[in-house]
Amino acid sequence: MSLNTAVFDLNCTACPRLSRFLEENKEKYPDYHAKPVPPFGVSKPKLLIVGLAPGMHGANATGRPFTGDHAGIILYEMLYKHGFSNQPTSIDIKDGLKLKHARITNAVKCLPPNNKPVGEEINTCNSFLVEELKTIDKKAIILCLGLISHKAVIKALGLKQSDFPFIHAKTHKLNDERRIVDSYHCSRYNTNTKRLTEEMFNAVFKQIKTELKL
Ligand code: URA
Repeated sequence: MSLNTAVFDLNCTACPRLSRFLEENKEKYPDYHAKPVPPFGVSKPKLLIVGLAPGMHGANATGRPFTGDHAGIILYEMLYKHGFSNQPTSIDIKDGLKLKHARITNAVKCLPPNNKPVGEEINTCNSFLVEELKTIDKKAIILCLGLISHKAVIKALGLKQSDFPFIHAKTHKLNDERRIVDSYHCSRYNTNTKRLTEEMFNAVFKQIKTELKL
């Protein structure tokens, strides 16, 4: 059981490897945020998007999820296209971007070396997700980007992993009327290899809007 009851802590240093990595990163790039990256968006979202972790020269630099990251290009385009924001691009925290009905968070709030958090770090950070999910309306949809995000959400909700396998474009209906939608992560690797195409990602957002009756 976790003793953490915060949704987010800008000064968290609970993962020694990640906090060391952030310190090194700040020395190398003094202008970067180089701290845990807070969730971004409305406080009572109809759609909560859960990514993996900040990218070094994107979210870790700007201090906003997916902002400046390659993965953010298609994500923010889709959010705009489907009416979840006021502009299609996300460049830095002063760019005027506002989300509508949506919030974006990450399963791991700190930049991990090689974009790969280890299991212990994912588990430690999960206590923030537990608290964040408590603030979300049960009728909201949780969009999990990738397997790690999906597993982190299932864990944070106290559910059994084997009851809810990750399946791209599946809406998992939970007992308490919550819904989780899975998508392959919109990473550069997945979009370059066409594991996730623009059409596939667009279809996921269409599905979400239909389910939310938006
Ligand atoms: N940037 C983020 O903030 N999260 C991701 O999962 C990828 C890039």
